[in-house]
Amino acid sequence: MDVRLLGDPVLRRRGDEITNIDESIRKLAADMLETMYAAEGIGLAAPQVGISLRLFVMEALEPEQEARAVINPVITHKAGTDRDEEGCLSVPGLNALVDRAEEIVMEGLDLEGEPIRIEAAGLLARCIQHEVDHLDGILFIDRVSPLQRKMLLGKWKKLQAEAAPP
Ligand code: ZN
Repeated sequence: MDVRLLGDPVLRRRGDEITNIDESIRKLAADMLETMYAAEGIGLAAPQVGISLRLFVMEALEPEQEARAVINPVITHKAGTDRDEEGCLSVPGLNALVDRAEEIVMEGLDLEGEPIRIEAAGLLARCIQHEVDHLDGILFIDRVSPLQRKMLLGKWKKLQAEAAPP
């Protein structure tokens, strides 16, 4: 699947709740995992592949975890703050320090429609918050100061111009 880049309106749309978890959703999740690994990302949300649904996949960040897909995720608890560098497959070439909750609890559904609850801290918590943001049309560049955002967008324009064919 093609990863949509900053400027594509699908990245700014709020994803719809998934009401019917069927084979097409499981196929979508499998295709998204494949796309995520190919792009060497640690998480990928459905809007990033042009599908406006509340689903994301993420890399296993703890050895005992498997890579997983989460449907209709909701962050039900946040605590602390943590500032660390973040990037995004939809905004390649840019990264910035972003403040996130240090610890979170996320609830959602797995690919069988069973409820899941994940308590996460550190990088895993950051990854989940970043992916849930995607489902609301929010990108990490929206989470920095206006000045820094302006700088990032300037750099983005420059990168796009360099990448464009002559
Ligand atoms: Zn992202």
